[in-house]
Amino acid sequence: MKKREFKSSSKRVLDLMINSIYTNKEIFLRELISNASDALDKLSYLSLTNKDLDASNPKIFIERDEKERKLIIKDNGIGMDEEELENNLGTIAESGSLKFKESQEKDSEIIGQFGVGFYSAFMVSKKVEVLTRKAGSEDAYLWTSEGVDGYTLEKTRKDKPGTEITLYLKDDQEDEDYSTFLDEYTIRRIVKKYSDYIRYPINMDVENSRLKEGSDKEYETYVEEVTLNSMIPLWKKDKKSITEEEYNNFYTSKFMDMENPLHVIHNNVEGLVEYKSMLFIPSHAPFDYYYKEYKKGLELYTNGVLIMDKCEELLPDYYSFVKGVVDSDDLSLNISRETLQNDRKVIAIAKSLETKIHNELLTMLKEEPDKYKKFFDAFGTQIKYGVYDMYGANKDKLKDLLMFYSGNKKELITLDQYVSDMPKSQKEIYYACGESYDKIDSLPQIEQVKNKKFDVLYLTGNVDEFALQVLEKYDDKPFKNVSDNTLDLETKEEKENTKKANEESKDMLDFMKESLNGEVVDVRLTNKISSHPVFLSTQGVISTQMEKVFNAMPIDNGQKAELILEINENHPIVDKLKKLYDKDKDKLKDYSKILYSEARLIEGLPLDNPTEISNLICDLISK
Ligand code: ADP
Repeated sequence: MKKREFKSSSKRVLDLMINSIYTNKEIFLRELISNASDALDKLSYLSLTNKDLDASNPKIFIERDEKERKLIIKDNGIGMDEEELENNLGTIAESGSLKFKESQEKDSEIIGQFGVGFYSAFMVSKKVEVLTRKAGSEDAYLWTSEGVDGYTLEKTRKDKPGTEITLYLKDDQEDEDYSTFLDEYTIRRIVKKYSDYIRYPINMDVENSRLKEGSDKEYETYVEEVTLNSMIPLWKKDKKSITEEEYNNFYTSKFMDMENPLHVIHNNVEGLVEYKSMLFIPSHAPFDYYYKEYKKGLELYTNGVLIMDKCEELLPDYYSFVKGVVDSDDLSLNISRETLQNDRKVIAIAKSLETKIHNELLTMLKEEPDKYKKFFDAFGTQIKYGVYDMYGANKDKLKDLLMFYSGNKKELITLDQYVSDMPKSQKEIYYACGESYDKIDSLPQIEQVKNKKFDVLYLTGNVDEFALQVLEKYDDKPFKNVSDNTLDLETKEEKENTKKANEESKDMLDFMKESLNGEVVDVRLTNKISSHPVFLSTQGVISTQMEKVFNAMPIDNGQKAELILEINENHPIVDKLKKLYDKDKDKLKDYSKILYSEARLIEGLPLDNPTEISNLICDLISK
């Protein structure tokens, strides 16, 4: 039989599994049971509409063969056909493997991002067989692999639909006791620990002893099939009886995350619409979170049956990071994607969930600020996007969840904190944009605001300024970019002086503006900066940061910031410029270009003519 090769990305994961990056090998059982449970869910779901499919007596069975060192996990779920076997077990989900290749992170972290899944069987096995028959089909297949060098696939027979996974356990090592996975009590413990809530019985044969019939001292052993799990979904249990470890195990196994959740929101809602929900806020963004492929949604159950595994309607986009399950007996089993959107009960549940998440985040912000900052680091961009999205329809709801970096405090603060700390004389909320806090911190135009002891919010995200523009104000205080040319912090006298200086040098400034070929709408003398020679301010709604965001978009929409080159009126360069205007206009032209380029570089804007500028500077130096 021909050996088939694993896709290369899968090979790497497999290699990591075999050479086991995990010390926690026992989770292989959790993964296989979880797959079996999913397979039973799928069959039960399909049987709702396909009467030919038999989903009766769903069960997961664990068989131990101590002599052969085999552990078999059986289910009577949906099974797989040949193509599915090949696609599901010959490769790791495409999106996952793609990112896997690109990512520079530590391997173990990446695997955790998309779950260890079926491959974890190789942590404890030298050989794995998957015997499977798809429900509704007569054909069965046997998939066999001993690890990285590939797998074989052959057609075979199987009595009933479903899947049987046989693990040939590795030989015991000095420091690794694989035989323990054949031990009744080890298996009981692992199932209880990770899979207790699984809705289907997880059964196993165990040996018991009893008094022989008719005897009062002779015992006999007999075999009994027992159910190892309680089958009560965790979300249906009383909150008080659930330990943190149970929540963590449930979350990590169900949502394939290696890290424990940051926060759990467990509710039992009664009233007009009744439901139970168990929601989790992850402690980090999934690797694909800010990609198109990421799909939001909660698992939706009704009457104990999973009816949708990613019900998008239950979560607004700005809370798309929330994972979890919702269980309501009020919903119809036959609810479809189309009817879902207009279902009054679904809408009511979604609304109630949103309020719960919102209040929970506000409470976290107030009572556990460090935890909230961790949350905001991971998902703040999504909240900011939520403020901006749909022309700000949700801005009032979300504004108090926002945090920005404070230039004074050197940490994230809320807008409420900013406003509470504002001195009486301050009328606006100042912000500045740039690539990093350090770069923003050294912007010339920030100096003036800092000198007045006003705080400045440092915005580094692409969406940040757009969000503030949509928000317009907070607590009636308008937002103001420190680069906006209408920034108005000078005294009356200072303004008069600057006005005079500009009038006196009007001809020279006009000449400089012309030298820049329409790149700027104005060249001005300013007293807004004290130590630096130049900076760019903008006129109108588009800032330099916004221009950068537009530039990065695949389609050029021609949106450009209207720039003003501001020159420090007290800087020695001004005298030099004046002299050149009288004596050497050609040189003034060159100087204008250099000053303008400097100002662009400070803003992080690209130069259109770097070679020309570089040559001009060299000419200057060599003279
Ligand atoms: P994941 O469960 O994260 O999708 P796995 O590597 O664990 O990844 O499994 C890959 C796929 O193989 C599953 O999505 C499922 O389609 C299929 N599969 C695994 N185990 C079973 C099973 N017991 N019955 C049916 N299909 C299964």
